[in-house]
Amino acid sequence: MNGTVGNQPALRRQVRDIVLRLDDAYGRKTWVPYHGPLEELVQTILSQHTSDVNSERAYLELRRRFSTWEAVRDAPVDDVVDAIRSGGLAEQKARRIQQVLATVLDCDPDEPLSCLNSLPLDEAKAYLTSLPGVGPKTAACVLLFACGRPALPVDTHVYRVSKRLGLIDERVTEQQAHDRLESLLDAEDVYTFHVNMIAHGRAVCTARNPRCATCPLSDLCRYYRDMTQGSGVPGASLSGTNRSSESREQR
Ligand code: SF4
Repeated sequence: MNGTVGNQPALRRQVRDIVLRLDDAYGRKTWVPYHGPLEELVQTILSQHTSDVNSERAYLELRRRFSTWEAVRDAPVDDVVDAIRSGGLAEQKARRIQQVLATVLDCDPDEPLSCLNSLPLDEAKAYLTSLPGVGPKTAACVLLFACGRPALPVDTHVYRVSKRLGLIDERVTEQQAHDRLESLLDAEDVYTFHVNMIAHGRAVCTARNPRCATCPLSDLCRYYRDMTQGSGVPGASLSGTNRSSESREQR
């Protein structure tokens, strides 16, 4: 049992249908490089547990105050804390960023993290998650956004919508969902699936009161099927349903 629901070929076909419908609804998304991997890694650490606006402000201030990554690494930690204060959890994030920079710059000072483009995907993930404070979501963000590699970041929207659709069962954690959902996707669909699932989670499949009546995925959705044809209890078609995880993410 790998935590996905049902058999893998059927789920892969279902996911392919979902990708195409989301592309129709929101437009197919194509990856374009924006940051290098080290920039993406620092920005993703800053984005943990705060809003995009706050983390962007912290990142820009960090880059304004320090001309190089070496300067960030070697600065008194209080100076880094001061620069990123708007991003929240500044002391914890400043220490993590300095630890990551010390490791990464020591390993390859000329092209830090360039190895991520050539390592097999599993090894690239393992390297990133060996760095302090880097979990599967941060690793996947770096690999997908900076390197264009087919690693799937699972944020709260991707996680919630995937569970409702029935792509993963309720017991799968957000951390476990990365590899399980990724295994259902063709490599060329990972980026558009990630971006459009977030759009769908924000606009239609919201945490509270999902707009199922207008959803283009309703005939593919376990939650909708349970609500309209079954017991009226979302997730009732699965044994061992854990309703508490849904409540947790809605807070
Ligand atoms: Fe979400 Fe409802 Fe659409 Fe299912 S049918 S994906 S629960 S909005």
